[in-house]
Amino acid sequence: MGQGTFAKRKASPGSVRRAFQPWNDPQARPLVEFRNVTKRFGPVTAVDGLSLSLYPREFFALLGPSGCGKTTLMRMLAGFERPDSGAILLDGVDITAVPPHLRPVNMMFQSYALFPHLSVADNIGYGLRREGLARPEIARRVAEMLALVKLEGLGARRPDQLSGGQRQRVALARSLAKRPKLLLLDEPMAALDRKLREATQFELMDLQSTLGTAFMVVTHDQDEAMTMADRMAVMDHGRLVQIGPPDVIYEAPVSRYVAEFVGDINVLEGRVSAVEGDLVRVESAVAGPLELDEDAPGFALGDTLLVGLRPEKIALSHDEPAQGLNKVRGEIWDIGYLGDVTMIQVMVGGEGGTLLKVALANRTRRIERPFAWDDAVWLSWDVEAGLALAP
Ligand code: ATP
Repeated sequence: MGQGTFAKRKASPGSVRRAFQPWNDPQARPLVEFRNVTKRFGPVTAVDGLSLSLYPREFFALLGPSGCGKTTLMRMLAGFERPDSGAILLDGVDITAVPPHLRPVNMMFQSYALFPHLSVADNIGYGLRREGLARPEIARRVAEMLALVKLEGLGARRPDQLSGGQRQRVALARSLAKRPKLLLLDEPMAALDRKLREATQFELMDLQSTLGTAFMVVTHDQDEAMTMADRMAVMDHGRLVQIGPPDVIYEAPVSRYVAEFVGDINVLEGRVSAVEGDLVRVESAVAGPLELDEDAPGFALGDTLLVGLRPEKIALSHDEPAQGLNKVRGEIWDIGYLGDVTMIQVMVGGEGGTLLKVALANRTRRIERPFAWDDAVWLSWDVEAGLALAP
Protein backbone atom coordinates (compact mmCIF):
# COMPACT_ATOMS: atom_id res chain seq x y z
CA MET A 1 0.00 0.00 0.00
CA GLY A 2 1.33 3.42 -0.87
CA GLN A 3 1.96 5.84 1.86
CA GLY A 4 -1.02 7.95 2.59
CA THR A 5 -3.53 5.32 1.55
CA PHE A 6 -4.76 5.31 5.10
CA ALA A 7 -4.30 9.02 5.68
CA LYS A 8 -6.77 10.08 8.31
CA ARG A 9 -9.48 12.25 6.92
CA LYS A 10 -9.42 15.69 8.40
CA ALA A 11 -11.97 15.79 11.18
CA SER A 12 -15.26 15.11 9.49
CA PRO A 13 -17.70 18.00 9.40
CA GLY A 14 -19.97 15.88 11.58
CA SER A 15 -17.48 15.68 14.42
CA VAL A 16 -16.41 19.31 14.15
CA ARG A 17 -20.02 20.36 14.07
CA ARG A 18 -21.27 18.48 17.07
CA ALA A 19 -21.38 21.81 18.91
CA PHE A 20 -23.16 23.44 15.97
CA GLN A 21 -26.72 23.85 17.21
CA PRO A 22 -27.87 27.38 16.40
CA TRP A 23 -31.49 26.20 16.55
CA ASN A 24 -31.07 25.82 20.32
CA ASP A 25 -29.58 29.29 20.72
CA PRO A 26 -32.21 31.98 21.28
CA GLN A 27 -29.68 34.64 20.15
CA ALA A 28 -28.98 32.97 16.78
CA ARG A 29 -30.46 34.76 13.78
CA PRO A 30 -32.01 32.49 11.19
CA LEU A 31 -30.89 32.80 7.57
CA VAL A 32 -34.27 31.70 6.27
CA GLU A 33 -37.68 31.82 7.88
CA PHE A 34 -40.87 30.33 6.53
CA ARG A 35 -43.74 31.95 8.39
CA ASN A 36 -46.98 30.05 8.16
CA VAL A 37 -46.53 29.42 4.43
CA THR A 38 -49.28 27.77 2.38
CA LYS A 39 -49.17 26.86 -1.30
CA ARG A 40 -52.11 25.34 -3.17
CA PHE A 41 -52.35 23.93 -6.67
CA GLY A 42 -56.09 23.84 -7.38
CA PRO A 43 -57.57 21.44 -4.84
CA VAL A 44 -54.14 20.20 -3.65
CA THR A 45 -52.53 21.89 -0.65
CA ALA A 46 -48.87 21.17 -1.42
CA VAL A 47 -47.49 23.13 1.57
CA ASP A 48 -49.80 23.66 4.51
CA GLY A 49 -49.23 26.47 7.03
CA LEU A 50 -45.57 25.58 7.38
CA SER A 51 -43.11 27.43 9.61
CA LEU A 52 -39.39 26.69 9.61
CA SER A 53 -36.10 28.44 10.36
CA LEU A 54 -32.78 27.57 8.72
CA TYR A 55 -29.49 28.92 10.05
CA PRO A 56 -26.34 30.22 8.36
CA ARG A 57 -23.91 27.34 7.57
CA GLU A 58 -26.57 24.74 8.27
CA PHE A 59 -26.84 21.52 6.24
CA PHE A 60 -30.55 20.76 6.20
CA ALA A 61 -32.18 17.71 4.63
CA LEU A 62 -35.82 17.40 3.71
CA LEU A 63 -37.37 13.92 3.65
CA GLY A 64 -40.81 12.61 2.96
CA PRO A 65 -42.79 10.41 0.61
CA SER A 66 -43.42 11.40 -2.97
CA GLY A 67 -45.90 14.26 -3.25
CA CYS A 68 -45.56 15.51 0.34
CA GLY A 69 -44.44 18.98 -0.82
CA LYS A 70 -40.63 18.94 -0.62
CA THR A 71 -39.99 20.32 -4.10
CA THR A 72 -42.70 22.95 -3.73
CA LEU A 73 -41.07 24.16 -0.50
CA MET A 74 -37.69 24.48 -2.23
CA ARG A 75 -39.16 26.14 -5.32
CA MET A 76 -40.80 28.78 -3.14
CA LEU A 77 -37.46 29.45 -1.50
CA ALA A 78 -35.78 29.79 -4.89
CA GLY A 79 -38.59 32.07 -6.08
CA PHE A 80 -40.06 29.79 -8.78
CA GLU A 81 -43.37 29.53 -6.92
CA ARG A 82 -45.19 32.14 -4.87
CA PRO A 83 -46.95 31.21 -1.62
CA ASP A 84 -50.72 31.75 -1.41
CA SER A 85 -50.27 32.99 2.12
CA GLY A 86 -47.54 33.46 4.69
CA ALA A 87 -44.09 34.97 4.24
CA ILE A 88 -40.54 33.86 3.46
CA LEU A 89 -37.71 35.88 5.00
CA LEU A 90 -34.04 35.84 4.18
CA ASP A 91 -31.71 37.55 6.63
CA GLY A 92 -34.78 39.09 8.20
CA VAL A 93 -36.02 40.63 4.91
CA ASP A 94 -39.30 39.52 3.34
CA ILE A 95 -38.39 38.05 -0.06
CA THR A 96 -41.81 36.58 -0.86
CA ALA A 97 -42.18 38.90 -3.87
CA VAL A 98 -38.50 38.99 -4.97
CA PRO A 99 -37.88 37.26 -8.36
CA PRO A 100 -35.50 34.25 -8.45
CA HIS A 101 -32.50 35.96 -10.06
CA LEU A 102 -32.44 38.67 -7.40
CA ARG A 103 -32.32 36.20 -4.49
CA PRO A 104 -28.98 35.14 -3.00
CA VAL A 105 -30.24 31.60 -3.37
CA ASN A 106 -29.36 29.06 -6.03
CA MET A 107 -30.91 25.74 -6.92
CA MET A 108 -29.13 22.72 -8.34
CA PHE A 109 -31.53 20.46 -10.17
CA GLN A 110 -31.53 16.68 -10.26
CA SER A 111 -30.83 16.70 -14.00
CA TYR A 112 -27.94 19.18 -13.43
CA ALA A 113 -29.22 21.11 -16.52
CA LEU A 114 -25.72 21.71 -17.88
CA PHE A 115 -25.48 23.38 -21.30
CA PRO A 116 -24.21 20.62 -23.60
CA HIS A 117 -22.64 22.98 -26.17
CA LEU A 118 -20.67 24.98 -23.58
CA SER A 119 -17.35 23.97 -22.07
CA VAL A 120 -17.10 23.08 -18.40
CA ALA A 121 -15.53 26.50 -17.69
CA ASP A 122 -18.27 28.34 -19.61
CA ASN A 123 -20.94 26.35 -17.81
CA ILE A 124 -19.45 27.33 -14.45
CA GLY A 125 -19.05 30.99 -15.48
CA TYR A 126 -22.51 31.27 -17.08
CA GLY A 127 -24.25 33.02 -14.19
CA LEU A 128 -21.29 35.35 -13.65
CA ARG A 129 -21.37 36.46 -17.30
CA ARG A 130 -25.09 37.15 -16.99
CA GLU A 131 -24.35 39.25 -13.95
CA GLY A 132 -21.93 41.28 -16.09
CA LEU A 133 -18.78 40.53 -14.13
CA ALA A 134 -15.47 41.53 -15.78
CA ARG A 135 -13.77 38.72 -17.73
CA PRO A 136 -10.66 38.45 -15.54
CA GLU A 137 -12.87 38.19 -12.45
CA ILE A 138 -14.96 35.48 -14.14
CA ALA A 139 -11.81 33.57 -15.09
CA ARG A 140 -10.52 33.83 -11.53
CA ARG A 141 -13.76 32.57 -9.99
CA VAL A 142 -14.10 29.75 -12.50
CA ALA A 143 -10.54 28.60 -11.70
CA GLU A 144 -11.32 28.80 -8.00
CA MET A 145 -14.48 26.72 -8.48
CA LEU A 146 -12.69 24.14 -10.65
CA ALA A 147 -10.11 23.71 -7.89
CA LEU A 148 -12.80 23.51 -5.24
CA VAL A 149 -14.58 20.62 -6.96
CA LYS A 150 -11.27 19.01 -7.98
CA LEU A 151 -11.71 19.39 -11.73
CA GLU A 152 -8.60 21.43 -12.49
CA GLY A 153 -7.49 20.88 -16.07
CA LEU A 154 -10.95 19.86 -17.29
CA GLY A 155 -12.29 23.38 -17.96
CA ALA A 156 -12.12 23.03 -21.74
CA ARG A 157 -14.10 19.78 -21.97
CA ARG A 158 -17.76 19.59 -22.84
CA PRO A 159 -20.18 17.93 -20.39
CA ASP A 160 -20.54 14.83 -22.61
CA GLN A 161 -16.80 14.22 -22.19
CA LEU A 162 -17.15 13.81 -18.44
CA SER A 163 -18.21 10.99 -16.12
CA GLY A 164 -21.47 11.23 -14.20
CA GLY A 165 -19.67 12.19 -11.00
CA GLN A 166 -17.68 14.89 -12.78
CA ARG A 167 -20.85 16.33 -14.33
CA GLN A 168 -22.37 16.48 -10.88
CA ARG A 169 -19.38 18.46 -9.67
CA VAL A 170 -19.62 20.89 -12.59
CA ALA A 171 -23.26 21.50 -11.71
CA LEU A 172 -22.25 22.07 -8.11
CA ALA A 173 -19.46 24.47 -9.13
CA ARG A 174 -21.87 26.39 -11.36
CA SER A 175 -24.39 26.68 -8.52
CA LEU A 176 -21.73 27.92 -6.12
CA ALA A 177 -19.91 30.32 -8.48
CA LYS A 178 -22.24 33.19 -7.64
CA ARG A 179 -21.53 32.56 -3.96
CA PRO A 180 -25.13 32.19 -2.86
CA LYS A 181 -25.92 32.34 0.84
CA LEU A 182 -28.08 29.30 0.38
CA LEU A 183 -27.84 26.43 -2.08
CA LEU A 184 -30.86 24.25 -2.71
CA LEU A 185 -30.09 20.75 -3.95
CA ASP A 186 -32.82 18.54 -5.40
CA GLU A 187 -31.66 14.90 -5.26
CA PRO A 188 -28.05 15.93 -5.91
CA MET A 189 -26.72 12.38 -6.06
CA ALA A 190 -29.59 10.63 -7.83
CA ALA A 191 -27.52 9.94 -10.96
CA LEU A 192 -24.49 8.51 -9.15
CA ASP A 193 -23.76 4.91 -8.24
CA ARG A 194 -23.48 3.91 -4.60
CA LYS A 195 -19.70 4.14 -4.15
CA LEU A 196 -19.52 7.48 -5.89
CA ARG A 197 -22.46 8.71 -3.85
CA GLU A 198 -20.68 7.93 -0.60
CA ALA A 199 -17.48 9.66 -1.70
CA THR A 200 -19.44 12.62 -3.01
CA GLN A 201 -21.40 12.97 0.23
CA PHE A 202 -18.18 13.60 2.13
CA GLU A 203 -16.90 15.96 -0.55
CA LEU A 204 -20.12 17.90 -0.38
CA MET A 205 -19.84 18.17 3.40
CA ASP A 206 -16.24 19.36 3.17
CA LEU A 207 -17.17 21.86 0.50
CA GLN A 208 -20.04 23.15 2.53
CA SER A 209 -17.94 23.64 5.63
CA THR A 210 -15.18 25.35 3.59
CA LEU A 211 -17.57 27.80 1.95
CA GLY A 212 -19.96 28.31 4.85
CA THR A 213 -22.93 28.29 2.48
CA ALA A 214 -26.15 26.90 3.95
CA PHE A 215 -27.41 23.83 2.08
CA MET A 216 -30.93 22.52 1.86
CA VAL A 217 -31.12 19.08 0.29
CA VAL A 218 -34.14 17.11 -0.84
CA THR A 219 -33.41 13.42 -0.96
CA HIS A 220 -35.13 10.05 -1.04
CA ASP A 221 -32.01 8.44 0.36
CA GLN A 222 -32.19 8.33 4.15
CA ASP A 223 -28.60 7.23 4.61
CA GLU A 224 -27.51 10.23 2.59
CA ALA A 225 -29.59 12.58 4.74
CA MET A 226 -28.34 10.97 7.95
CA THR A 227 -24.70 11.23 6.88
CA MET A 228 -24.75 14.81 5.73
CA ALA A 229 -27.35 16.78 7.60
CA ASP A 230 -27.06 18.85 10.75
CA ARG A 231 -30.84 18.59 10.94
CA MET A 232 -33.41 16.74 8.95
CA ALA A 233 -37.12 17.32 8.61
CA VAL A 234 -39.75 14.73 7.80
CA MET A 235 -42.74 16.03 5.83
CA ASP A 236 -46.25 14.63 5.50
CA HIS A 237 -48.99 16.23 3.40
CA GLY A 238 -47.39 19.66 3.28
CA ARG A 239 -46.50 19.84 6.98
CA LEU A 240 -43.31 19.21 8.90
CA VAL A 241 -43.97 16.39 11.34
CA GLN A 242 -40.52 16.36 12.97
CA ILE A 243 -37.34 18.41 12.71
CA GLY A 244 -34.11 17.47 14.47
CA PRO A 245 -30.60 16.09 14.22
CA PRO A 246 -30.50 12.69 12.44
CA ASP A 247 -29.84 10.67 15.61
CA VAL A 248 -32.81 12.24 17.37
CA ILE A 249 -35.12 11.53 14.41
CA TYR A 250 -33.93 7.91 14.31
CA GLU A 251 -33.83 7.14 18.03
CA ALA A 252 -36.68 9.35 19.21
CA PRO A 253 -39.21 9.66 16.39
CA VAL A 254 -42.36 11.49 17.48
CA SER A 255 -44.77 9.17 15.73
CA ARG A 256 -45.20 5.83 14.02
CA TYR A 257 -45.16 7.67 10.68
CA VAL A 258 -41.67 9.10 11.31
CA ALA A 259 -40.39 5.86 12.86
CA GLU A 260 -41.50 3.86 9.82
CA PHE A 261 -40.34 6.43 7.30
CA VAL A 262 -36.80 6.68 8.68
CA GLY A 263 -35.31 3.20 8.95
CA ASP A 264 -36.96 -0.13 9.70
CA ILE A 265 -39.02 -0.65 12.82
CA ASN A 266 -41.11 -3.42 14.41
CA VAL A 267 -44.28 -2.30 16.14
CA LEU A 268 -45.97 -4.21 18.98
CA GLU A 269 -49.31 -3.13 20.41
CA GLY A 270 -50.00 -3.27 24.13
CA ARG A 271 -51.71 -1.73 27.14
CA VAL A 272 -49.96 0.26 29.84
CA SER A 273 -50.04 -1.80 33.06
CA ALA A 274 -47.65 0.23 35.25
CA VAL A 275 -45.72 3.51 35.22
CA GLU A 276 -42.93 3.97 37.77
CA GLY A 277 -40.80 7.05 37.20
CA ASP A 278 -39.43 6.64 33.67
CA LEU A 279 -40.24 2.94 33.48
CA VAL A 280 -43.34 1.95 31.60
CA ARG A 281 -44.72 -1.60 31.76
CA VAL A 282 -46.80 -2.71 28.81
CA GLU A 283 -48.81 -5.92 28.42
CA SER A 284 -48.58 -7.05 24.84
CA ALA A 285 -50.79 -9.82 23.48
CA VAL A 286 -47.97 -10.95 21.20
CA ALA A 287 -44.91 -10.60 23.43
CA GLY A 288 -46.23 -10.68 27.01
CA PRO A 289 -45.00 -8.14 29.55
CA LEU A 290 -42.60 -5.52 28.16
CA GLU A 291 -40.76 -2.73 29.87
CA LEU A 292 -39.37 0.43 28.39
CA ASP A 293 -37.56 3.47 29.59
CA GLU A 294 -39.31 6.65 28.54
CA ASP A 295 -38.45 10.19 29.64
CA ALA A 296 -41.41 11.72 31.43
CA PRO A 297 -43.98 9.29 30.09
CA GLY A 298 -47.38 10.86 29.70
CA PHE A 299 -49.38 7.62 29.72
CA ALA A 300 -52.12 6.47 32.05
CA LEU A 301 -52.82 2.91 33.14
CA GLY A 302 -54.88 1.10 30.55
CA ASP A 303 -53.78 3.34 27.64
CA THR A 304 -53.13 1.58 24.36
CA LEU A 305 -49.53 2.03 23.35
CA LEU A 306 -47.38 1.00 20.41
CA VAL A 307 -43.88 -0.19 21.25
CA GLY A 308 -41.37 0.36 18.45
CA LEU A 309 -38.25 -1.79 18.22
CA ARG A 310 -35.51 -1.21 15.66
CA PRO A 311 -34.27 -4.54 14.19
CA GLU A 312 -30.66 -3.98 15.24
CA LYS A 313 -31.65 -3.59 18.88
CA ILE A 314 -33.05 -7.13 19.20
CA ALA A 315 -30.81 -10.05 20.21
CA LEU A 316 -31.46 -13.58 18.98
CA SER A 317 -30.65 -16.81 20.84
CA HIS A 318 -31.59 -20.48 20.84
CA ASP A 319 -31.71 -20.62 24.63
CA GLU A 320 -34.15 -18.70 26.74
CA PRO A 321 -32.52 -15.47 28.01
CA ALA A 322 -32.20 -15.13 31.78
CA GLN A 323 -33.95 -11.77 31.90
CA GLY A 324 -37.61 -11.82 32.99
CA LEU A 325 -39.04 -9.23 30.60
CA ASN A 326 -38.60 -8.05 27.03
CA LYS A 327 -38.28 -11.50 25.54
CA VAL A 328 -40.47 -13.53 23.24
CA ARG A 329 -40.27 -16.92 21.50
CA GLY A 330 -40.63 -17.30 17.81
CA GLU A 331 -39.78 -19.28 14.73
CA ILE A 332 -37.49 -18.19 11.91
CA TRP A 333 -39.46 -17.63 8.72
CA ASP A 334 -36.95 -15.92 6.52
CA ILE A 335 -33.25 -15.12 6.41
CA GLY A 336 -31.86 -12.42 4.15
CA TYR A 337 -28.07 -12.22 3.87
CA LEU A 338 -27.04 -8.64 3.06
CA GLY A 339 -23.27 -8.91 3.51
CA ASP A 340 -22.73 -6.62 6.46
CA VAL A 341 -25.86 -7.74 8.28
CA THR A 342 -28.29 -10.62 8.08
CA MET A 343 -31.95 -9.67 8.31
CA ILE A 344 -33.97 -12.40 9.98
CA GLN A 345 -37.77 -12.48 10.08
CA VAL A 346 -39.17 -14.22 13.12
CA MET A 347 -42.84 -15.18 13.51
CA VAL A 348 -44.00 -14.67 17.07
CA GLY A 349 -47.34 -15.75 18.50
CA GLY A 350 -47.65 -18.73 16.14
CA GLU A 351 -48.78 -18.81 12.53
CA GLY A 352 -50.84 -15.71 11.73
CA GLY A 353 -49.02 -13.89 14.55
CA THR A 354 -46.59 -11.02 14.08
CA LEU A 355 -43.41 -11.07 11.99
CA LEU A 356 -40.54 -9.25 13.68
CA LYS A 357 -37.35 -8.24 11.91
CA VAL A 358 -34.00 -8.79 13.60
CA ALA A 359 -30.75 -7.43 12.13
CA LEU A 360 -27.64 -9.36 13.09
CA ALA A 361 -24.23 -7.87 12.36
CA ASN A 362 -22.03 -10.43 10.56
CA ARG A 363 -19.06 -10.13 12.84
CA THR A 364 -17.03 -13.02 11.46
CA ARG A 365 -16.41 -14.45 8.00
CA ARG A 366 -17.97 -17.78 8.95
CA ILE A 367 -20.34 -18.92 6.26
CA GLU A 368 -22.26 -21.37 8.45
CA ARG A 369 -24.71 -19.19 10.25
CA PRO A 370 -25.81 -19.90 13.80
CA PHE A 371 -29.47 -19.63 12.77
CA ALA A 372 -31.46 -21.47 10.13
CA TRP A 373 -34.97 -21.46 8.71
CA ASP A 374 -37.59 -22.99 11.04
CA ASP A 375 -35.32 -22.69 14.11
CA ALA A 376 -37.15 -22.05 17.36
CA VAL A 377 -35.53 -18.93 18.81
CA TRP A 378 -35.82 -16.28 21.50
CA LEU A 379 -35.82 -12.57 20.82
CA SER A 380 -34.81 -10.26 23.64
CA TRP A 381 -33.97 -6.62 24.08
CA ASP A 382 -32.85 -4.07 26.58
CA VAL A 383 -35.21 -1.87 28.55
CA GLU A 384 -33.70 1.10 26.67
CA ALA A 385 -34.36 -0.41 23.23
CA GLY A 386 -38.14 -0.04 23.07
CA LEU A 387 -39.75 3.18 21.99
CA ALA A 388 -43.25 4.31 22.93
CA LEU A 389 -45.18 5.48 19.89
CA ALA A 390 -48.56 7.11 19.91
CA PRO A 391 -51.06 4.94 17.99
P1 ATP B 1 -41.41 13.98 -5.11
O1 ATP B 1 -40.65 13.35 -4.00
O2 ATP B 1 -42.20 12.98 -5.90
O3 ATP B 1 -40.62 14.91 -5.94
P2 ATP B 1 -42.47 16.18 -3.55
O4 ATP B 1 -42.53 15.87 -2.10
O5 ATP B 1 -41.35 17.02 -4.01
O6 ATP B 1 -42.58 14.85 -4.40
P3 ATP B 1 -44.15 18.22 -4.71
O7 ATP B 1 -43.55 18.13 -6.07
O8 ATP B 1 -43.81 19.41 -3.90
O9 ATP B 1 -43.86 16.89 -3.88
O10 ATP B 1 -45.72 18.14 -4.88
C1 ATP B 1 -46.64 18.31 -3.80
C2 ATP B 1 -48.07 18.19 -4.31
O11 ATP B 1 -48.38 19.30 -5.15
C3 ATP B 1 -48.32 16.95 -5.17
O12 ATP B 1 -49.61 16.49 -4.91
C4 ATP B 1 -48.19 17.47 -6.59
O13 ATP B 1 -48.96 16.70 -7.49
C5 ATP B 1 -48.72 18.88 -6.46
N1 ATP B 1 -48.09 19.81 -7.43
C6 ATP B 1 -46.80 20.17 -7.46
N2 ATP B 1 -46.55 21.05 -8.45
C7 ATP B 1 -47.74 21.24 -9.08
C8 ATP B 1 -48.18 22.05 -10.20
N3 ATP B 1 -47.31 22.86 -10.84
N4 ATP B 1 -49.46 21.97 -10.56
C9 ATP B 1 -50.33 21.18 -9.89
N5 ATP B 1 -50.01 20.41 -8.84
C10 ATP B 1 -48.74 20.43 -8.43
